[in-house]
Amino acid sequence: MANYDLLKQALKKEGLRYTIQRQSVWDELCATDDHRDAEEIYMDIRQSGSDVSRATVYRTIDVLVKNKLIRKLDLGDGRARYEHKIDTAHHDHLICVQCGKIEEFMDDLIESRQDAIIKKHGYKLIRHIHQLFIICDECSTK
Ligand SMILES: [Zn+2]
Ligand SMILES: [Zn+2]
Repeated sequence: MANYDLLKQALKKEGLRYTIQRQSVWDELCATDDHRDAEEIYMDIRQSGSDVSRATVYRTIDVLVKNKLIRKLDLGDGRARYEHKIDTAHHDHLICVQCGKIEEFMDDLIESRQDAIIKKHGYKLIRHIHQLFIICDECSTK
């Protein structure tokens, strides 16, 4: 089971009971490094044989986002994607505009340039989001 205590703490904070169904949502999110929307996560949980309602999946995802256990990605297409934040280093995303495939990247030069820009302005950087929209190899050969 993935990080039982973290989930328990988050649920407690929201005044929600710990249940095996909510654990299965958290387990599913930690099981892969994929970037899925709530419906895909729901379908994957159902496929693995857990009897969890759609409402529970959506509700649990909200709790996990709110407690910073998972990250919500807004790709500008109206479908939020989610990824877990356990043991993952900072990274940004490359998104294919045709097939929706998402790849991760990390570039030290970009990161340090950002720090330099913020420093120049005398500000403190809280967080940043880079999304590079691309056409992937597979789609460009179609
Ligand atoms: Zn593509
Ligand atoms: Zn990611």
